[in-house]
Amino acid sequence: MNFEHTFDYIIVGAGAAGCVIAYRLIKNLGCSVLLLEAGNPDNNPAIHNTDMQSMTSLWGSNADWGYSTEPEPSLGDRRISIAQGKVLGGGTSINAMMYIRGNRRDYDRWKYLGNEGWSYQEVLSYFKKSEDYEGGESAYHGVGGPLHVINYRNPAPVSQAFVSAAMELGYAGNGWDCNGEQQENGAFFYQSTRTQDNRRCSTAVAFLRPIFGHPTFTVATNAQVTRLLFAKQRAIGVEYLQDGNFHQVKAESEVILSCGAFESPKLLMLSGVGSAEHLQAHGIPLIVDLPGVGKNLQDHLLFGVGYRCKQEQPVPNLLSEAGLFTYTNSNIDLSTNSPNLQFFFGPVQFVEPQYRVDSPGFTFAPILVQPQSRGTVSLISNNPKDLAVLRPNYLQSEADLDVLIRGVELSRELVNTRPFDEFRGEELAPGIAVTGKAELRAYICQVASTVWHPVGTCKMGGDNDAVVNPLLQVYGVEGLRVADASIMPTITSGNTNAPTIAIAEKAADMIIAAR
Ligand SMILES: Cc1cc2nc3c(=O)[nH]c(=O)nc-3n(C[C@H](O)[C@H](O)[C@H](O)COP(=O)(O)OP(=O)(O)OC[C@H]3O[C@@H](n4cnc5c(N)ncnc54)[C@H](O)[C@@H]3O)c2cc1C
Repeated sequence: MNFEHTFDYIIVGAGAAGCVIAYRLIKNLGCSVLLLEAGNPDNNPAIHNTDMQSMTSLWGSNADWGYSTEPEPSLGDRRISIAQGKVLGGGTSINAMMYIRGNRRDYDRWKYLGNEGWSYQEVLSYFKKSEDYEGGESAYHGVGGPLHVINYRNPAPVSQAFVSAAMELGYAGNGWDCNGEQQENGAFFYQSTRTQDNRRCSTAVAFLRPIFGHPTFTVATNAQVTRLLFAKQRAIGVEYLQDGNFHQVKAESEVILSCGAFESPKLLMLSGVGSAEHLQAHGIPLIVDLPGVGKNLQDHLLFGVGYRCKQEQPVPNLLSEAGLFTYTNSNIDLSTNSPNLQFFFGPVQFVEPQYRVDSPGFTFAPILVQPQSRGTVSLISNNPKDLAVLRPNYLQSEADLDVLIRGVELSRELVNTRPFDEFRGEELAPGIAVTGKAELRAYICQVASTVWHPVGTCKMGGDNDAVVNPLLQVYGVEGLRVADASIMPTITSGNTNAPTIAIAEKAADMIIAAR
């Protein structure tokens, strides 16, 4: 191998996780770090503006990998388009900026599954470590960290009605902090990752800007890693493609993969780490047979229950202003299970175009947050330029459909409470005539889509399908960790950015401890 440069650590992917790890290694170790990012620098102004139009302009742009699933059998064979950030900051430069940590039971389950060190109490300190919460320090929030988190300002009157309606149905509300002591069964306004001057607080802004120019830190953009380089079973560097030229660089200590739930398993497989059978089919020499690479794909699914609004509402500057986490079934063991239903709610018509009308509107968006369905990420070829093949198998499990149907019912219960009297117009989608299970199933299959939260494809654990151990080291090789959304054994109840940042904080701590 012909290495051009040597670094102590090479981090692949400057997304939610990669930027955090780079920051902590540079701040804590007197070592050299190379951070390689396939996408561009984050200098498109739309990345930093926080209006909805700027944000949606990024989806499908060159800051997005442009992924779509294969035809999804339970969604009427539709291909679901699933944006993924390809730019400095990764998903955090194009995402909807909602700050949600998940439920304490999510992490306790990870520990229960054999992942020592990942209980809620242990992970909580990493959420706090990153955070600079404008609401101040508490047992649950941190201040002084790089990531600025704000409370949502000036929710629309109809979003305030959502919280009052939930309270009328018996949920808590009134300043409920879903990132506090208890997440579930309280209606709240979303917190958001924004800078103090109300710009996007991506991980590139929060964690990379402070270390740009540091003498031992190198970041390269438009640099797509095409394979990991091994000496026997040890990862010793990477090969990347930049401006049409291949480069090989060496890692003295470790290579850390933070490419996200689609590209991390893809890169492992391209490098010979994956199912022996699958790699053989694509002519890729085997380093280690790890059948779990690319399995266990989990994602959140949502759709809109939309209404005409009798009053004009202010334009929101968050995709969802108000929300709720709850359980759809009283038989669920609440001591161990996380809520399975989340709501987005906002003063917009967040429904498919055929249901929209030229009038003010508001929408409930039920989200399946504990899917039973599992999918896969696989290779189409051994060419790194090809996107991976995605088969999420959304709604493969009937139980998942039942949760979403309950989401429609609960939306209707909420909208029929008194706080909505002054706002409630006709139901636009699916429409009040759509009531039975078969009709609701048909609607959901026709319109449901991703919330862009793929996880789980390089899962942490100790079973045959586990890819990394609780230290996030890849089984069967040395010098290689995965640290990003792909390591989640089970998906968290809620948006996945904050959990990924916490994973990265913990990964950095473990790397530093091993030095
Ligand atoms: C449109 C959208 C909206 C979302 N909204 C929210 C939200 O409001 N709240 C929330 O909590 N979560 C949200 N998410 C999810 C959240 O952003 C992700 O969970 C999070 O970004 C995952 O972090 P990651 O580090 O695993 O991957 P990413 O953030 O995707 O980072 C991976 C990085 O690796 C780079 N990369 C990949 N392959 C290579 C390679 N071979 N070589 C070099 N670089 C490579 C990618 O270009 C990317 O920059 C949203 C996501 C999207 C896409």
